[in-house]
Amino acid sequence: MTEAMPYLTGERVGRIAVITLDDGCLDNFLYAAPILKKHGCTATCYAVSQHMGSFNQWDAARLNVKKPLMSRDQLREWASMGLEVGAHTQTHARLTQTGDYRLNEEIDGCKSDLEAVLGTPVTQFSYPHGNWDSRAAHAVRSAGFRAAVTTRRGRSRPGDELFCLPRVKVRGCDFPLLFALKILTRYEDRHQESALKRRAPGRNHGQEMRSVHHGQGSRRQLQRI
Ligand SMILES: [Zn+2]
Repeated sequence: MTEAMPYLTGERVGRIAVITLDDGCLDNFLYAAPILKKHGCTATCYAVSQHMGSFNQWDAARLNVKKPLMSRDQLREWASMGLEVGAHTQTHARLTQTGDYRLNEEIDGCKSDLEAVLGTPVTQFSYPHGNWDSRAAHAVRSAGFRAAVTTRRGRSRPGDELFCLPRVKVRGCDFPLLFALKILTRYEDRHQESALKRRAPGRNHGQEMRSVHHGQGSRRQLQRI
C-alpha cells in the first residue's frame, strides 16, 4: 500500500495492482510469501496486534474454523522479505460499536504494538469486518496512518479519500474470467455504485466520506480476508 500512495495522491500516474491480506494468517506467511517473492510482488498484510501467534478468536466459533496467525517472529520475517505490515486493530474490534477510549486503544495501540515488534513505522490500516464510520476514520488519521482500506467493493482512483478506500475481493473459487472481470473492468465499480444507490440517506455509516469517491484513471486492489 505504501508503494501505491503516490498513485493514490496523483503524484504518479499508472495502472497498478495492490495485494492486501487481512488478519495476518499464518498461511499468508507459509504459502503466499514464497509465491509473492518468486514473482517479485509485494503485498500488505494487516495484523491483529494482540493475537499474534494465536488464532482468529473473533470469528473462530462462528466459522467453526481456527485459523493460525503469524507470530511476532514470522511477522518480522514477513517484513524482512520486503513485504509490508499494516494494522488491523488490537483485537479485531468492530470500531463503530466501540467507545471513544477503546477506539483509540484499538487503533493507536495496534500501531504501537506492531512498531515495537517491527522497529519500523506502521502507516497502513484496515478496518476489521470492513466496519467503519467517520469517527473511526478520523481516529485512524489522527493516529498517524496514511491510508485505510475497507471492504467496500470497487477500484480506487487517484484523488480518492484515503481513509475509506474500496477493494476488490478475490476468492479462491473465482474462475479466471471472473477474476479478469473484477480487476480489469468496471465490474466491481458497478457493484459499488448500485450499493450506494440502494442505501437510504443517513443509513450508511461513513457516507460523507464515500461521497468523494470519484476521479480519473484506474488502479486495482486485490483483497483476501
Ligand atoms: Zn479481519
